[in-house]
Formats: sequence, C-alpha cells, structure tokens
Amino acid sequence: MKPKRIVFLEVENEDRDEVLSVFPDAVIESEVLSEDEIIRKHNDAEILCTFIYSPVTKKVIHALPNLKLIATRSVGYNHIDLKAAREKGIVIANVPDYGSHVIAEHVFALLLSSIRRVVEGEERTSRMKFEFQGLRGIALKGKTLGIIGAGRIGLNVARIASLGFLMKVLAYDVYQDPDHALEYHFQYATLDEIYEKCDIISLHCPLLPSTKHLINGEAIRKMKDGVVIINTARGGIIDTKALIKGLKSRKILKAALDVVEHEQNIEENKELVEMENVIITPHIAFFADDSMHRMYSEAMSDIKLFMETGAVKHAVVGE
Ligand code: NAD
Repeated sequence: MKPKRIVFLEVENEDRDEVLSVFPDAVIESEVLSEDEIIRKHNDAEILCTFIYSPVTKKVIHALPNLKLIATRSVGYNHIDLKAAREKGIVIANVPDYGSHVIAEHVFALLLSSIRRVVEGEERTSRMKFEFQGLRGIALKGKTLGIIGAGRIGLNVARIASLGFLMKVLAYDVYQDPDHALEYHFQYATLDEIYEKCDIISLHCPLLPSTKHLINGEAIRKMKDGVVIINTARGGIIDTKALIKGLKSRKILKAALDVVEHEQNIEENKELVEMENVIITPHIAFFADDSMHRMYSEAMSDIKLFMETGAVKHAVVGE
C-alpha cells in the first residue's frame, strides 16, 4: 500500500487511538479548522477524513492540489462542495449508516423530554420543589406522527412509534417503497396530508437545495394547531424565523431540536434557544457508543479500499 498523506479532522481524544491503530502516520486534528487553517496546515493532503463542521468548500478544494479523496464520517455531506470536488475528479465517500437506530432513539429522547416535561421537572426537583402541578404532559399512544424523509432513520422512527408507542404513522418521501410501509408499519402520505393530519412531525430528509426551509411559514400554516416539531436532520430544513413565529403564536406547541441553523454560532439562535417551549440538544443524536465506533471503522475501511483500488464502497452520488 503506497503511503499517502491522510489528514483526519475533528477527532475526539477518545478516538485517536482507533485512527492511529489503522493509519499510524495519519495527521490528526481535534479542533474544527477554518477554511484558511485547512489550507495553511494541510495543503499537501491527499486524503481528508472529515466530519460535519469542517468546511470543505470550493476554496479549500482548489487549494489542495494533491487531494484525491474526501471521506466524511457522516451521513450528511452538505459541508462539502460536491460540484467543485467532482470537477477536480476527487472521490467523495460518506458513512451512510453508522447506526440509524441511534438517531431514532434520540428522537424519542427529545420528544418525551419535551412533551412529558422531563427538563422542567428536573429543574424543579433540583430546586428542592417536588410537585407535579403545572407539568401535565401529552401521551403518544393514539397520536399521529408524520415523518418527512422515510430513509434509514425515518424508518426506524416509524417502527418505534408504531410498534413501541402504538402511534399512527404517516410518512412522506420523494421515493416510495410499499415494502417499507409494511415492514416498518406506516402509510405513505403527501406533504400536505402530513401537515394537515399529524400531531407530531419529525424531519428526516437530507438538507438539499430543494429541502432548504421546507418547513417555512406556508408549511406551518397548513399544520394542525398545537403541532410538535422534531428536527434531528439539519437545521437548514426549517426556516428559523417562521419557527419562532409559530412557537410564539402557539400554532406550534413545542419544538424539540438536535440541529439548528448556524450551529457554529449559537448566539444567532438566542431567541429560539431561550423560548420556554423549545428544547435543544447540541447535535448529539449520532453520538453514542456503537455509532462512533462504526463511523470510524466504516470510513477507514473505505479509505483503505481507495488506497488499494482507487474506488470506495460508499461513494456520494447525491445532488
Ligand atoms: P437516508 O438517505 O437513508 O434517508 C433520507 C430520506 O429522505 C430518503 O429516503 C430520501 O428519499 C428522502 N428525501 C430526499 N429528499 C426528500 C424530500 N425533498 N422530501 C422528503 N424526503 C426526501 O438518510 P438517513 O440516514 O435517514 O438520514 C437523514 C438525515 O438525518 C441526513 O441527511 C442527515 O442530515 C441527518 N442526520 C442527523 C444526525 C444527527 O446527529 N442529528 C445523524 C445522522 C444523520
């Protein structure tokens, strides 16, 4: 195997040894680097193994003349300029499934924390106040859940909701597979049907030019009064201003979010963060024991395959 200059970005300390056990000469960065820092420190990189906060922009791609592979240890790849990379013949790989159940489980952690008032209850007891009054929750059994994007994560959410919580589940996807509907216990619906009929809506489509601000003022107007919105996909799928407006008017009862717009500058979300009917986790849905292990092992086996054959198993072919 011909050695290449491999640069790993955004590696947590706990994961360094796993990387070095496979690529002992890899250069490892734990911090998120800016475009200019990537260019200044790693302009001789041949393989970049990134995560979602590294801006692999046109500027970066053009400034790294030896770059041949960008392997992102994530499902989403909207942090990579695919067009610029393709124009330069750079191969892009992602990790399409490092454990979709892990994200689906977090959907219910968020949802139940929100509608069963777990966060408020905990705050109350931590102030030595042990009273239930004022913390009435909402039950899931019998409610209708709408899933937008019935892919790996959405399907897991559908199954947990229908079989675990006895909810009715509707799902919208641009591609439909009747076998999925049977196996994961849901019915396909149009977007408008989801907006009109669902008590809770959970987003699981990718962020693409076509899905940016999919949940905007117009979509929110079509939703049921008192709808609960969960977003564990990407912040940009929701128009934050429209979300805040919907929450203020109580059209949206609660929002439970793992992703927001401008995650790198949370101050820009101050108004949303401070709303009492919103709970937000800092993009941790993916972050669990077995998912982290799979994320590294899948990305590294694709890098090895690329070094041996020039091809990858999980080539990104999206928009
Ligand atoms: P997936 O590719 O398996 O599923 C996405 C589904 O969305 C596909 O079925 C696709 O057909 C559908 N889709 C595409 N465009 C659509 C549109 N306009 N409207 C409705 N559906 C559309 O991906 P996945 O593994 O289920 O992940 C979904 C998203 O979750 C990822 O794109 C990523 O952004 C996000 N994600 C977040 C975390 C986190 O930690 N919060 C972790 C992993 C993934």
